[in-house]
Amino acid sequence: MLDIRRIPALTDNYLWLVREPASGLVAVVDPAEAAPVEAALATLGWTLTHILNTHHHKDHTGGNLALKAKWNATVVGPAADAERIPGIDVEVGDGETYILGEESAEVFDVPGHTRGHIAYWFPDSDALFCGDTLFALGCGRLFEGTPAQMWASLGKFDAMPDETLVFCAHEYTQSNARFALTVDGGNVALIARARAVDDARAKGQATVPSTLGEERATNPFLRADDPELARNVGLDARDPVAVFAEIRQRKDHFK
Ligand code: ZN
Ligand code: FE
Repeated sequence: MLDIRRIPALTDNYLWLVREPASGLVAVVDPAEAAPVEAALATLGWTLTHILNTHHHKDHTGGNLALKAKWNATVVGPAADAERIPGIDVEVGDGETYILGEESAEVFDVPGHTRGHIAYWFPDSDALFCGDTLFALGCGRLFEGTPAQMWASLGKFDAMPDETLVFCAHEYTQSNARFALTVDGGNVALIARARAVDDARAKGQATVPSTLGEERATNPFLRADDPELARNVGLDARDPVAVFAEIRQRKDHFK
């Protein structure tokens, strides 16, 4: 099993430090900046060997070059966006497997937030590193993709078990919950989760990772094919892309 640690960075980013115990290999997922990674490595006594990037945004790659220079770490990132990943050594894409010691990640192309976004799924550890594709109770903004693309990308997670831990890259859950209630306010699981999120945040606790099972029950962006949610936004669940597009656009303007 991977040993996975959460590192807060910038204002609301989470970086993930991942150690494969049999080999001692250590990867950081989406290092926004180097300093908090260095501090965590020093505390844990771990040696960084890999950097795994999900997409090119600065708040996911800003620490790449400094960490690579210091640790000679191997930078792994999306083949579809290699030219925008600083220091990339290994390009991976849809359907490929990336081996980290005794564990392996299945790689998925998940365009929508950016055109070259990927996700890493470590099935033996029930761990999904999805960057800015799926958030707790939300999903990434569509900067470089269409609603149809993003809905298809999120659909790639359908085959993963409910227990899968969703290691997304931001603490956006509380505002996502406020929005989710505006389109799915009759969902009792969502109401309960929103309360739990408020409690956790009031105590200064992180709400990430969540599980895919929780997201399936409460995340409106995974529920665009739910008849009640569709009705709430005046659309038909038989066209989930239209429902998805509508709620994504409402979220873009939600304050
Ligand atoms: Zn991003
Ligand atoms: Fe981000």
